[in-house]
Amino acid sequence: MPTQRFKKIFRSVFTKLLVVIILAGICINLVVGGFFIHLRNQFIGPFHQNVVQYLNYLIADVGNPPNLDRAREIARESFLDVRYESPNLRWTTSDELPTEIRGRFRSLRQNPDVRYGRHRGRHIIEVTAEEGRFIFGPSRNLPVDSARHRLFVIMLLLLTLILAGAFFVIRHILRPVKWLNDGVKEVGRGNLKHRVPLKKSDELRDLAAAFNDMTDRIRDMLHTKEQLLYDVSHELRTPLTRMKVALEFLADSQAKQSLQSDIEEMEKMVSEILETARRQHKYENLKKQPTNLVDLIKQTTAAFENQPPGIEIVDLPSEIEVDIDPEQIKTVFENVLNNAIKYSQPDSAPIQISAKYEESYVVVQIRDFGMGIPAEERAHIFEPFYRVDKSRAKDTGGYGLGLSLCKTIMEAHDGKIEVQSRPQEGTTVSLFFPLI
Ligand code: ADP
Repeated sequence: MPTQRFKKIFRSVFTKLLVVIILAGICINLVVGGFFIHLRNQFIGPFHQNVVQYLNYLIADVGNPPNLDRAREIARESFLDVRYESPNLRWTTSDELPTEIRGRFRSLRQNPDVRYGRHRGRHIIEVTAEEGRFIFGPSRNLPVDSARHRLFVIMLLLLTLILAGAFFVIRHILRPVKWLNDGVKEVGRGNLKHRVPLKKSDELRDLAAAFNDMTDRIRDMLHTKEQLLYDVSHELRTPLTRMKVALEFLADSQAKQSLQSDIEEMEKMVSEILETARRQHKYENLKKQPTNLVDLIKQTTAAFENQPPGIEIVDLPSEIEVDIDPEQIKTVFENVLNNAIKYSQPDSAPIQISAKYEESYVVVQIRDFGMGIPAEERAHIFEPFYRVDKSRAKDTGGYGLGLSLCKTIMEAHDGKIEVQSRPQEGTTVSLFFPLI
């Protein structure tokens, strides 16, 4: 699981952008740093000469033979400790200066008598004079150290602030990508009413607007298709009736019976389509009222109790108050329960009904242990006239309109319907009702 999460983080555009910004920051620092190093290299020669010159003045000031008292005065005034080492005379203004200089000390290119390096965190310079060696180092009293540490902490704080700022700004800029992602998922689930928010004024807003336009157009196309279907169904009624009447005048025969049964089936199909259209029209004027969902469930299931494999209420609170049109929602429960019974065997385990609260919804789940729905079919079962096994129509009745109707009703209530299923194991239909 953690590896999955890591993969997700590394694949996100947000992380990539953040990494690009951090890398760009590092590269800019390297370039600017390189530029300053180049500048420093140009000035280092004259700087070293000046330092040597200054130290020579100090050595001259200390006198010959070198005078410790004068050296102490210099140490106080210029925060510079001095040690003198010669075969005859040795003194120091501070014991912290080393007597001998070893290790990674380098000689100045312009003057091999001057060597410099670091000793216990301090810069040390050794100047070899005629009779002895002078060792210089900054005094511990030099008030630069603490300030330098504070500066380092301030720099770290500023860097953290800049990175945190970049993090939040990128996240803010990329919010429309998340909205679009949610939109694509919603539309993929079939919710063509979903709108991606258009809050910014950049290319992502244009993309979101184009996405909303596309969804609108698909919805219009589907609507036109449905309308055509309803119109044709309506128009079919008269010729069907005429055919039925005409058939009555024919002599009884096998062919007549077969024609009559086909016409009856067509009539059933046409009236189911028209009934769906009539209901669809009703959703625009839902009669919503505060309803106890639990009572409605119990009332609906009572009618199915004697049908095998039976219904079992597993987990239901005593009251769930929602704002719904009870008649319409009853139709949804009836359709889903009908399917659960139709697509189970009489000896399957009983159908289970439960309800739970999930985010801003109350979810009613109807679970059966029947034949299930193959994964590749699951996306289509909410389409009108879609049936998994077309040849089953005669045995199980129905024209594939039930679930599409349920979906329309649930969406009219600002809810949704979802199906999870495993072939040969069973199906769970989840109905999401928004909480009041
Ligand atoms: P129908 O009237 O054919 O049942 P629906 O729209 O209610 O139409 O369902 C569409 C298709 O989804 C059905 O033909 C069936 O194949 C499948 N289906 C629905 N519910 C279930 C279920 N509980 N178990 C297995 N298949 C189901």
